[in-house]
Amino acid sequence: MLSKQFKKELLKTPRGTRDLLESDLVIFDEIKKRAEELARYYGYHKIQTPAFEHADLFLAALGDTTDMVEKQMYTFRSRGGDHLVLRPEKTVPTMRAYFEHGMQSEPQPVMVYSVGSCFRHESPQKGRFREFTQFDLDILGEDLAVADATTIRMFNLIFKEIKIDATLELNTIGDKECRPIYRKELVAYYRKHFNQLCKDCKRRYKENPLRLLDCKEPTCAELKQKAPQMIEYLCDECKKHFKSVLEFMDTLEISYRLNPYLVRGLDYYSRTVFEFIVTIPPENEKEPARRLEVGGGGRYDYLGDVLGGRHVPAVGGAFGVDRVAEVLRQSADLEEYKGQPPRVFLIQLGDAAKKKSLYLMEEFRKAKIPLSQSLSKDSIRGQLRIASKVGADFSLIIGQKEAMDGTVIIRDMDSGMQESLPFAKVIERLHSKLKSVPFSKRMPKAEFSEEDLNQL
Ligand code: AMP
Repeated sequence: MLSKQFKKELLKTPRGTRDLLESDLVIFDEIKKRAEELARYYGYHKIQTPAFEHADLFLAALGDTTDMVEKQMYTFRSRGGDHLVLRPEKTVPTMRAYFEHGMQSEPQPVMVYSVGSCFRHESPQKGRFREFTQFDLDILGEDLAVADATTIRMFNLIFKEIKIDATLELNTIGDKECRPIYRKELVAYYRKHFNQLCKDCKRRYKENPLRLLDCKEPTCAELKQKAPQMIEYLCDECKKHFKSVLEFMDTLEISYRLNPYLVRGLDYYSRTVFEFIVTIPPENEKEPARRLEVGGGGRYDYLGDVLGGRHVPAVGGAFGVDRVAEVLRQSADLEEYKGQPPRVFLIQLGDAAKKKSLYLMEEFRKAKIPLSQSLSKDSIRGQLRIASKVGADFSLIIGQKEAMDGTVIIRDMDSGMQESLPFAKVIERLHSKLKSVPFSKRMPKAEFSEEDLNQL
């Protein structure tokens, strides 16, 4: 016998994961559709990499001292003994695919987009899941600032298209020339304040000092206010590159905020880094407003060297579909995401009518007339009520008599007018009716009076 507690757990998704139901998925699908349309228009091609990869791929790319590798990766041994990992992000697999498919010999740059799940063992909280969906855009094989600007512009356009108000934050983290000098300065500064650092930052100090700037702990956040800033240590080339990115932003009228503490903790990142932030108003007076990172990315010029032994300047980023959906749910009129329910409702009464209905439904599908129905119901009143609730403009009624003589009643749900037609004529008639009647507002129709129903 399963214990009560065990049974309860058995019927729940694992922590940090959730089922997405139709009401979530219509929003998810619409977000993906709009992003995808934009990406394709601007010349990105779709790519899909596996949900799991060799663990060594990420170990090589991310280094084994990053938070992601140390704490967040779902690694496992396959039955055959392979050491695998559920992908925590998609930049590394994208670069792997670039090499694996010889994309370096195609005309450069190679522009790709992808959408799919990523997995991180983080502590779940609002907007943070252990399985989540990322939409990625990448430009590989281009070092000019125009690629950085295009990437940022794409995310800007996508958020506009989805009607999300996201603020762009920008920074540069230099390159192999200037970053080590800055790193030294940063370490020297934090050495003086080592004892004030939180436990995680004490570790980061040794392994990845740039990440110290990322810490949200109050004392660490205060310390960073006086920390040296990368911008003062940039070499001439990085300065020129960043200036050019900012000029593009001005020309494209994309407003931004320079955030000198914005970093990407991974070594393969270089130069431009960016994030898109949405401010979520507090749910009650006690809570502060929340900063939600909906998207982010940057240049990763050194990833190609690490993985393929070849320099491939590249830039890209990702937005979180789950987070964007959450923001939309809180702020937007979701009507346009819900899609229109079918305008025609099929009502059937009795066994013979059900059989005819199933046959007719297929004819309607081929004629591209969406129908909704409630095949398990048998009463005319119940079905008419549903038809009016879903806001159908027309009902098709097949009773016993209609089933016998091969006819269908078309009922105009607004006027109550009805006409009876042979099966063969219904599709043509409905097509012209749907064309002539403007799209209803999808409001539930008026309830039926007894008199109304008795007329049927
Ligand atoms: P990152 O790869 O960390 O730069 O993340 C890119 C985007 O993915 C972020 O801006 C978020 O919108 C989203 N994201 C990252 N981690 C999570 C998570 N644990 N749950 C939901 N969304 C996430």
